[in-house]
Amino acid sequence: MKLTPQASLLYWYEHNGRHDLPWRNTDDPYAIYLSEIMLQQTQVKTVLERFYFPFLERFPTLLDVADAELDDVLKRWEGLGYYTRARNLHNAARQCEGILPTDAHGLIQLSGIGRSTAHAIAAFAYRESLPILDANVKRILHRYFALPKRNEKKLWEYAYLLFDPVHPFEYNQAMMDLGALVCVSKNPLCDTCPLETTCQGKTSPHVFPEAKMKKAKPVRRRSIVIHQRNGRYALMQRQSRFLHGLWGFFETDEALGNRNFLGHITQHYSHFTLEADVYLSGDETEPEGYEWFGLDEFAALSMSRADQKAVTLLRYNLEKKESGCESY
Ligand code: SF4
Repeated sequence: MKLTPQASLLYWYEHNGRHDLPWRNTDDPYAIYLSEIMLQQTQVKTVLERFYFPFLERFPTLLDVADAELDDVLKRWEGLGYYTRARNLHNAARQCEGILPTDAHGLIQLSGIGRSTAHAIAAFAYRESLPILDANVKRILHRYFALPKRNEKKLWEYAYLLFDPVHPFEYNQAMMDLGALVCVSKNPLCDTCPLETTCQGKTSPHVFPEAKMKKAKPVRRRSIVIHQRNGRYALMQRQSRFLHGLWGFFETDEALGNRNFLGHITQHYSHFTLEADVYLSGDETEPEGYEWFGLDEFAALSMSRADQKAVTLLRYNLEKKESGCESY
């Protein structure tokens, strides 16, 4: 008997899916929401091994997130990057007062929850009959329907076309797994794909969708200045949109020469690369708006990766100085 593409996909999922992922074995909408947000820019393995459970342990419910200070939420997000996700999570928790809406329409009103995430939470937690359209699903649809052009609106139409409305949970999970395990971006395993017999793009999957023109990332050159006074160091909680809420050292565009040079750091962000020289300043002038912390207090502060790298340089240079070796 010839199976429909949906039946074929569900059969494949039953035998090959990643059924033991913790967010697939709960109907707690918050736990599902958290996984969706963490997985947006981070791999399953990293989320699973380092971030998902510690975050849930500190914030077992969304109400705990709403009650917490942003600083605390950012601290638990440290290392995951893309901190806008954590800020949005905190905002959303406060918007809904710790109780998530029970359908996609309500979910999409919350900070940082787009259409696909709303559909995912609604399909997985409430079994609402809606397809998702994350990066993996987009790739499959482009190939399956042989669509070279990137057009989000059209893709949603195709997402509904292939969707199995009777099994929203299994179908969406199956599509996510198919994208992660079989219809992968570099070398799709078409021979083992449950959609192989009906896939229109299988003979040349790499042309769907057409490649994006890669723009070279701009490089920003900055100087990070660690002001010190009586063994304490000046940090400011950033108010700018970028890295908002994270603690950081004073930064300037000026090149400061070799005096008190601690070292150089490179940090890659999604839209630019930071190349920064790091300096220690004993200048007594207090940079405006900064607060003073001891080295042992740094661990409790949420800091960007770049500032953490500056701290590593600082510690390294202090240790060298203490041991009588060459110093800054
Ligand atoms: S047949 Fe190949 S290109 Fe088509 S959906 Fe399956 S893995 Fe992707």
